[in-house]
Amino acid sequence: MSTNNNRVWGFFQKLFGQNPPPENKKEKIVKGLVKALDLTEERELACEEVFEVIDQYAELVSRGEQPDKVMPLVQHHMVICGHCREEFEMLLEVIQVNPA
Ligand SMILES: [Zn+2]
Repeated sequence: MSTNNNRVWGFFQKLFGQNPPPENKKEKIVKGLVKALDLTEERELACEEVFEVIDQYAELVSRGEQPDKVMPLVQHHMVICGHCREEFEMLLEVIQVNPA
């Protein structure tokens, strides 16, 4: 728990807005977010940046490599961004159906 805390709360508020989760679940969710942030560099990626590498990322995953080691920022973005995660899951399906 450190300087990441303010960023975590920022995410938290974006995620839940006016509908915060029950008090007893908050701590767990915040801890998960802190952990996600700890995996990363200081900078966050924008969706546009993730989209540029998302096919490479999906290929890595489909080959069984560990994206959190190779592309930690992208992995982190998947944790916080459902939109990119959906895109990634679609790509992954395409790759698995049509292997190169
Ligand atoms: Zn995104």
